[in-house]
Amino acid sequence: MPAMDNATYLDRYAQSVMGVFGRPKAVLTRGDGCYVWDADGNRYLDLLAGIAVNVLGHGHPAVVGALCRQAASLIHVSNFFATPPQIELAERLLAVAGAPEGSAVFFANSGTEAIEAAIKLSRRTGRTGLVAAEAAFHGRTTGALALTHKQAYREPFAPLIPSVAHVPLNDEAALRAAVGSDTGALFLEPLQGEAGVIAADPAYLRLARELTTAAGALLIIDEIQTGVGRTGTWFAFQQAGIVPDAITLAKGLGAGVPIGALVTFGPHVSGLLTAGQHGTTFGGNPLASAAGLAVLATIEADGLLAHATSVGNHLVDSVAALDHPLITGVRGAGLLRAITLSADVASVVADRALAAGFIINAPTPDVLRLAPPLVITTVQVDSFVTALPTLLDGLEPTS
Ligand SMILES: *Cc1c(COP(=O)(O)O)cnc(C)c1O
Repeated sequence: MPAMDNATYLDRYAQSVMGVFGRPKAVLTRGDGCYVWDADGNRYLDLLAGIAVNVLGHGHPAVVGALCRQAASLIHVSNFFATPPQIELAERLLAVAGAPEGSAVFFANSGTEAIEAAIKLSRRTGRTGLVAAEAAFHGRTTGALALTHKQAYREPFAPLIPSVAHVPLNDEAALRAAVGSDTGALFLEPLQGEAGVIAADPAYLRLARELTTAAGALLIIDEIQTGVGRTGTWFAFQQAGIVPDAITLAKGLGAGVPIGALVTFGPHVSGLLTAGQHGTTFGGNPLASAAGLAVLATIEADGLLAHATSVGNHLVDSVAALDHPLITGVRGAGLLRAITLSADVASVVADRALAAGFIINAPTPDVLRLAPPLVITTVQVDSFVTALPTLLDGLEPTS
């Protein structure tokens, strides 16, 4: 057997795996903490964490231990039965979300499935109108895709579900005009991750709460990328001081084990979906729930909310100190960050970063996104910031 290197694996990939992701950049074979290794033996500092998923890095003993114990005990049961990890995770999620009495959790297996559940929830208001923001990303299944704004994702699959209005983010007048008596739900990301880490203003989120309450519509906050400590609080909506009707979760919740969740706030919202109206085979299975419990317990025990805030602020300060002509700023919160550039060179920089041993990505042409494990250290962040001027070398600012 010849040794399997990146190139050999990628040829096999091209012959066997559907091409929807294009050609992968490398084949990763193992990880440890904030580092991963590829099939050629190269080591990378993982500043993307599987796109905001691996909140505890790779091979964290709390996650590995919880998974091993749970796998040896019970991996799956049908929804004719419940399991202790599922119940406990629901209780812990409601507690950290500050959800009132009568709130509830529906477990799914991914972000887009959490959104699908939320869309079905909104239909139970008796209204079909949906409002979302321009540049929003809410997933790729056909329901969620109707809320996702990007034309390139939508057009090949038209017609999507009708009655979705997209409004420019942070435009208060447009929001006032869009939310009305036919609106079932307004969906908003507190920070639009895929759009390049663009924040909904706290005042805009508060207006969204006021308008939806007045119109009798649901306010659904998509925390799939921002939730579970990513922005320095358990959930980003908590920084705006609002109480939503529901939040959607996935990415960081299982530390890499697929899990999604719809959390509904209060009895009126939680009662909208009744027995038989929604379901899933795998959602909330004990293995994924055990991973979720390990994540929540470790974030709490290790103070990772405060850590995400302080390391995120350190990143902002140290990038600012570079005072580089190509860098216009750092935006975002906690450890969901965008380094903004004055030229459309982000994908070149991301490729150079990979070659230099750093995984980041370019969600838009002038944005570098960082969403590292919440356990990353300032020393590890500094190793990237120190390398950044070299990665930008010879690239021209747009005048
Ligand atoms: C990733 C993401 C989704 C979709 O989640 P999947 O698990 O990929 O289906 C939805 N909304 C937001 C904000 C996301 O970042």
